[in-house]
Amino acid sequence: MFRTFLLKYGEIFLKGKNRYMFEDALVEQVRRAVSKCDGEFEVHKSLSRIYVEALGDFDYDELIEALSTVFGVTAICPVLVLEDNGFDALKADVVKYVDETYEEKNFTFKVHSRRARKNYPVNSLEMNCLIGEAVLDAFPDVKVDVHTPEVLLNVEIRERIYVYSIVIPGPGGMPVGTGGKGMLLLSGGLDSPVAGYMVSKRGVKLEAVYFHAPPYTSERAKQKVVDLAQIISRYTGPIKLHVINFTDIQKAIYEKCPQDELTIIMRRYMMRIAEELAVAGNCLGLITGESIGQVASQTMQSLAATNAVCTLPVYRPLIAFDKQDIVTIAEKIKTYETSILPYEDCCTIFVAEHPVTKPNVNVIAKHEENLADCIDEMVKTAVEGREVIEIL
Ligand code: ATP
Ligand code: MG
Repeated sequence: MFRTFLLKYGEIFLKGKNRYMFEDALVEQVRRAVSKCDGEFEVHKSLSRIYVEALGDFDYDELIEALSTVFGVTAICPVLVLEDNGFDALKADVVKYVDETYEEKNFTFKVHSRRARKNYPVNSLEMNCLIGEAVLDAFPDVKVDVHTPEVLLNVEIRERIYVYSIVIPGPGGMPVGTGGKGMLLLSGGLDSPVAGYMVSKRGVKLEAVYFHAPPYTSERAKQKVVDLAQIISRYTGPIKLHVINFTDIQKAIYEKCPQDELTIIMRRYMMRIAEELAVAGNCLGLITGESIGQVASQTMQSLAATNAVCTLPVYRPLIAFDKQDIVTIAEKIKTYETSILPYEDCCTIFVAEHPVTKPNVNVIAKHEENLADCIDEMVKTAVEGREVIEIL
């Protein structure tokens, strides 16, 4: 029955120039999402509404699923579009709509009519009453509830007439592309894909960097990161993924720095390299999956020591999240199953038995001087030799 879908978006903060930027970005993201579905679709904007229209055969569930990945969309409403054949025909069509849409006709409802076209002969209040009556007459077990109806039957008179009552929640947020670009430090774990998803939900486009340590970390560990980037790209759009060979740097740290500081020093080099790539790629900040106290390298002291090497802002959307909260989102965005695959991560190979939990940033910086004779060259080699994978 449905070939047209009305997309709603939050409008409170949308004024003037912002509004056009937001709507255009949203239309672009909707087009990207539907381009991955079978069938042909037209996406257009009309009177601060976005409509998706199927031009031929399509798969309803696939389309809804795709539209549910578009940040900025707050609701997806399948709409029945009618030609204006007079008010009696409209009443009959609405009754037929209710009949076909709801198997059990025993709900409470309210009609909400709007006339964008003021020359329509029946005004909104009259329409509410008369259409309501027609529905009540047709289905003896439905009741009107004007305060908290189970079904809100929307009837909108525009050039054509739109009838809808199904409201499928969208992901909310802001359309990707309205918020600049960020560099996500993406590991194969649970947290960083969720962190990338969350920041992207605020309209931020992503690039990503993964630090790979072959042969200590396998091709499968790298593939897992590529797979995770692929999964979140359904929401975030294309991601340029930089894969840095981190082995020599990690070995040098392992050989020349105190064991209990390995992780912190390694994390500081990751941040430095990520920042270098971020600046080169016009990213406005770094994004990590860190959360206070989750592991030794994420105490407030450790985070301060890691943060000290960056000048760009570091966005840590999970900073106050418990693991279970993160798991819940990972399940929702379907990264969970991939994240828990057991391939080793470069951090787990060179870890100390008793890492510092309260590092002093000056002491750490002092110990990094042990690397002075080799590190710049190693960083340069790692950056220049990186592999770039375009996730589309
Ligand atoms: P995750 O689940 O994201 O791996 P984690 O709980 O394992 O996080 P850490 O390993 O301490 O935590 O890493 C903290 C953050 O540092 C990660 O969320 C991620 O942003 C970044 N990070 C860690 N390892 C890597 C890596 N190999 N490549 C890129 N980023 C990494
Ligand atoms: Mg990790």
